[in-house]
Amino acid sequence: MYANIIIDITHEKLDRIFQYSVPPELEGTLRTGMEVIVPFGRGNKETKGYVVGLCDRADYDADKIKSVAGVSEDGVAIEAQLVALAAWMKESYGGTMIQALKTVLPVKRRENEKEKRTIRLLLNEEEGRKQLEIYLNKNQRARARLLAALLDDPVLEYGLVRKHLSITAPVIRALEEQGVLTIESERVFRSPRIAEGERMKQLSYTEEQQNVIHTFSRDYEAGERNTYLVHGVTGSGKTEVYMEMIARVVERGRQAIVLIPEISLTYQTVMRFYRRFGDRVSIMNSRMSAGERYDQMQRAKCGDVDVMIGPRSALFTPFPDLGLIVIDEEHEPTYKSEQTPRYHARETAIHRAELSGASVVLGSATPSLEAYYRAEMGEYKLLELKNRAQRQCMPEVYTVDMRRELSGGNRSILSDRLRELMSDRLAKGQQTMLFLNRRGYAGFVSCRSCGYVEKCPHCDVALSAHKNGKLVCHYCGYEKPMVSVCPVCGFPHMGGFRAGTQQVEDLVKKVFPGARVLRMDMDTTKNKDGYEKILAAFANEEADILVGTQMIVKGHDFPNVTLVGVLAADMSLYADDYRAGERTFQLLTQAVGRAGRGREKGEAVIQTYSPEHYSIEAAVRQDYEGFYRKEIGYRELMGYPPVRELLAVLITGADEELLETAADYLKKYAERMDKNHLLTVIGPASPSVGKVNDIYRKILYLKCEEYGMLIKAKDRLEQYIEVNSGFDSLRVQFDFNPMNIF
Ligand code: ADP
Ligand code: ZN
Repeated sequence: MYANIIIDITHEKLDRIFQYSVPPELEGTLRTGMEVIVPFGRGNKETKGYVVGLCDRADYDADKIKSVAGVSEDGVAIEAQLVALAAWMKESYGGTMIQALKTVLPVKRRENEKEKRTIRLLLNEEEGRKQLEIYLNKNQRARARLLAALLDDPVLEYGLVRKHLSITAPVIRALEEQGVLTIESERVFRSPRIAEGERMKQLSYTEEQQNVIHTFSRDYEAGERNTYLVHGVTGSGKTEVYMEMIARVVERGRQAIVLIPEISLTYQTVMRFYRRFGDRVSIMNSRMSAGERYDQMQRAKCGDVDVMIGPRSALFTPFPDLGLIVIDEEHEPTYKSEQTPRYHARETAIHRAELSGASVVLGSATPSLEAYYRAEMGEYKLLELKNRAQRQCMPEVYTVDMRRELSGGNRSILSDRLRELMSDRLAKGQQTMLFLNRRGYAGFVSCRSCGYVEKCPHCDVALSAHKNGKLVCHYCGYEKPMVSVCPVCGFPHMGGFRAGTQQVEDLVKKVFPGARVLRMDMDTTKNKDGYEKILAAFANEEADILVGTQMIVKGHDFPNVTLVGVLAADMSLYADDYRAGERTFQLLTQAVGRAGRGREKGEAVIQTYSPEHYSIEAAVRQDYEGFYRKEIGYRELMGYPPVRELLAVLITGADEELLETAADYLKKYAERMDKNHLLTVIGPASPSVGKVNDIYRKILYLKCEEYGMLIKAKDRLEQYIEVNSGFDSLRVQFDFNPMNIF
């Protein structure tokens, strides 16, 4: 017996199979996917590897073949099916086999892992202040330091407290004994107990829902496995439909994976699944420790759960008989991995489903151009939900042309229309959401006379003005004091043009002094629970107005929100990216969809400087079809995905000159190898961010009719890079149909 093994070293030159013989004592135990120890290299150093296949004939000279030393004791085996999936991912997205294997085996070993612990303040604000006085009077500095930190943020991570505040364990214990705080071990979403009465009452499905469920079940029972695209307007009851489909698959003794973008994986969403499936559901998220994720994976593997819910990586749950994969909000860019292999969860799910005889259900109110295009081509089955589940009307949408607003004398970021509607809602006790398109983008400082923009010296992006009076880089964290005089032309009034979320919050408070305002953006959600806390407070109607970035538009259900205001709808239109129009349409549609989900009808105001742009027009009309037709025409004309296939080759390095030379060589090689002129090679160009942390970036694009051709081109380029020493100090990454870097 011989074993084909991938060595656990990430290096292009070692990216191939090494064959070892299987010693008699391991025959019968060794299986594909197992982690083993093998002698490797000249010194026969003991090295880890993974078995990717077994065979009974040697492909090399039998007496030159070394023997497997043993199976790793604490190793985690990969399911054979996931090994096959990894091979496909390496093929389709590039990178090495070991990188692909590590991707499908996302759980790290449990070695010495300490449980994550948190400290929670038990006193209220007033009691806390009093206690703080006492500590200060007694000169108990460590206790005071800890309590002061807790008064700022009532939940802190144990390890961080010890490290950053240099507080010792006895001090923490002393405060615990005094009843000031409690130490909790963190278990996120760990099988909450659901009282019997709380279990989901079975809904009666709408006719549209019934049709969708029926089509799915009929196919499934007939043994037909498909990819379905559920295109359902916001609030049309897609989640209910997924749960019914899952129930049908689970009844047949099979399991299901549900992918939900991390940002929508809120308590609210998760509880809906628990109510329906009880403790047969397991959740994964990135805040869980490796050990906790490992536990969930084990539960799935040994049949303790039927449904796994999580972000992208939950796709690799080792279920024994996977029957269904659901991808909610399939248009979300987070479904594409930003690490090699840069896989897309949609395509990878479809491949995994093929391997295990499962079906795939994609759902969205604003399907990606890719998914809708494939549905049109007949690759996916299109299922539609055109109405909201509880018969609520879709919101009324108004556009405000901000140019007219300005010429009419209103220089505020709130249009007259939006301000009137907001005060109407405040009077009625209903809630408003104000969505500001993109943080940071807004805060840049420029000279109003010569146009000079303050940039980060390391990253080639504009610095953002923060309230603390500093200019900050959002890529690397670089800071410098605010400037008011332009260093180029001497104009004395440098300043920010557009407002960020913080300024919007300040303005709203000024315009509506009585209103209770909450803000949600990267800054206010930095702490672990910040996000959930703000959502919960808003859901409990502790605030009248929620101001925020895109975070607030994702799949939340606030029945008392009857007004949505979109400030600066255009900002995302000018992003340096061929998907800008699609992103804008999606964001606006999702934002508008937050209004009027309860009993009252909703309204939305979209403020824009370009009301005639088709993305904005279509979002106002809430016309997905209309948008799709325009956008697909543009993609066709420009040769962009999904009509064409695109491969980005990102080359990075610290030596700018060397980088430029290498990029030129690579381009010439790409053109030379393309004898039949099937490729279009573009670049090398500097991407929109030309430098990050002093590492320069260049990018080449290859366009082609066929995905398979692009894969071949990538293989050839990889070979070229491997044998050319000019690339030794550079990094080359491949990205098929990229989401961000353009
Ligand atoms: P989507 O995922 O499409 O946004 P949801 O499944 O979250 O929609 O449904 C929106 C709201 O409508 C939820 O509060 C849900 O409980 C409710 N709902 C869904 N289907 C029905 C139904 N058939 N009858 C009554 N309420 C429903
Ligand atoms: Zn920077």
